[in-house]
Amino acid sequence: MGESLFLTFIGPPSCGKGTQAKFVRKGYNIEHLSTGDLLREVIKKKTAKGREIQNIISQGKLVSDEIVLDLLENKLKTLTGSAGALFDGFPRTVNQAIGLDRVLKGRDSRLTAAIYFDVRFEEIVKRVTGRLIHPASGRIYHKVYLPPKRPGIDDLTGEPLVQRKDDTLEVLEQRMEVFNSFAKAITNYYEDQGLLIKVDANKAPKEVFDELTQRLAKIGISKAF
Ligand code: AMP
Repeated sequence: MGESLFLTFIGPPSCGKGTQAKFVRKGYNIEHLSTGDLLREVIKKKTAKGREIQNIISQGKLVSDEIVLDLLENKLKTLTGSAGALFDGFPRTVNQAIGLDRVLKGRDSRLTAAIYFDVRFEEIVKRVTGRLIHPASGRIYHKVYLPPKRPGIDDLTGEPLVQRKDDTLEVLEQRMEVFNSFAKAITNYYEDQGLLIKVDANKAPKEVFDELTQRLAKIGISKAF
């Protein structure tokens, strides 16, 4: 596993992490591991631990480092045949970053780079407040960037589109506060080790991915396909 590619994505809400994760997973043949998804899987099992996690998440708080690291470590053990992993939403604390280093070291590997998606707050506001979804399918549109053929109507089913409850300026400000409270410590941690790569995420998705690809190429990482 010495040559595996391990990346972490750091960025504020709506910085385009999810879209870039899809590109990276395909382009570099690595797994996409989201700790949010792993936690939601536990919640679905309706165990006491699941209820505890649900309670924490619903308050917008962070789940304990111990629980998150445990889930991640177990998930990593199940990975076979992939060229590495992309961590999404993780680490959120320096303690988790240290834990990740330990887990990777145990696999005779290490983090390749931490990608920071730098995006202006005004751009985030535009993305969040213009986003529309089709609830039944999860299809996402944007009033300006990706408008449906008919305003407010899903292209495929003709059903109405809605705004997500948390896609408001108020909730966004709260999520930004949570993000800002941990982002500085994490980015400093990786910057000190020379692992931080800052990408301009104000641009269109394809351009962001091009920049990311070029930056990775500079450190000797090329696409799988
Ligand atoms: P996400 O899907 O990344 O937005 O995560 C949803 C929620 O899961 C967060 O608001 C946290 O409560 C929890 N969570 C996800 N990842 C972590 C993590 N690395 N550390 C602590 N809590 C997390």
